[in-house]
Amino acid sequence: MKILNLFDKDKVDKKLHIGWGLSILVNDKILFDTGEKGSWLLANMQRLKIDIAAIETVVISHDHWDHTGGLGAILKSKKGIKVYGCPNFSKEFKVQVNKLHGQLVEADRFVTVAKDIFITGEIPGAYKGKYMPEQALVLKTKKGITIITGCAHPGILKIVEKVRAKYPAEPIYLVLGGFHLMESDERAIEIVVAKFKKMGIIKAGPTHCSGETAESIFKKQYGRKFVRIKTGQTIEV
Ligand SMILES: [Zn+2]
Ligand SMILES: [Zn+2]
Repeated sequence: MKILNLFDKDKVDKKLHIGWGLSILVNDKILFDTGEKGSWLLANMQRLKIDIAAIETVVISHDHWDHTGGLGAILKSKKGIKVYGCPNFSKEFKVQVNKLHGQLVEADRFVTVAKDIFITGEIPGAYKGKYMPEQALVLKTKKGITIITGCAHPGILKIVEKVRAKYPAEPIYLVLGGFHLMESDERAIEIVVAKFKKMGIIKAGPTHCSGETAESIFKKQYGRKFVRIKTGQTIEV
C-alpha cells in the first residue's frame, strides 16, 4: 500500500505548503485528516498531481482544527464523499459534514473502510482537561500492521495496544503520525520507545505533535528503522 504525506511540518518541494497539522493519503483514495487549511491542501494535491475525484473516503482522526481544516474544501470539491468520524465529535463538525453533503459515518468500534484498511473507531482521550475522542487508521499488508495516528490524544500506547488486541497474530510493521509527546520529558519518552520495542514494533515515524525530543529519541533508538516522510513524500508498506 502507498502512503503519501500531503501536509505536515516539513517538505521536500519548496512549492508545497507546510504547517501545523497532518494529512495523509493512502492508495490515492483514502484521505486521513486534512491539515489546517483547505486552500493549502488543495494546492498540495494539485502540485502532487492527486485527483480529488479518486478520493472515496475521508477519515478524520479527531475534531481539532489542524486535522479538520481542509475537510470543507474536500467536501466542496467532491460531493457525497464518505466521512468517518467518531460519535463524540462536536455538533459543529457533524453539521458541517451534513451541510456539505458528506455521508457521515460515526464509528464507535473497528470498521472496515476498504480492503485491508480499518479504523479503530472512537478511543477515549483528553486534551487540556476536556474529553477528546480520537480514532486511528490501520493498514494490513504482507509486512504486518501499519497504524497511522492524528495527534494520539488518548495516548500513543493506548492506541497501539487497542490495535494489537484486535490483531494479536499480526506483527506491527510501522506506527506513523502524531504521537503527542511534545510536553513529555525524556524519561517518559524513553518508556514509550521501550514499550514500542517490547511490542515488536518494527518501524516508527513520529511527526507533527510528537515533538523534537521524541523525534530525536525515536531516531536514536530506531536507527535505520526510523521513518521520516515529509510533505510530498511517499512510502510503501
Ligand atoms: Zn494535531
Ligand atoms: Zn489534536
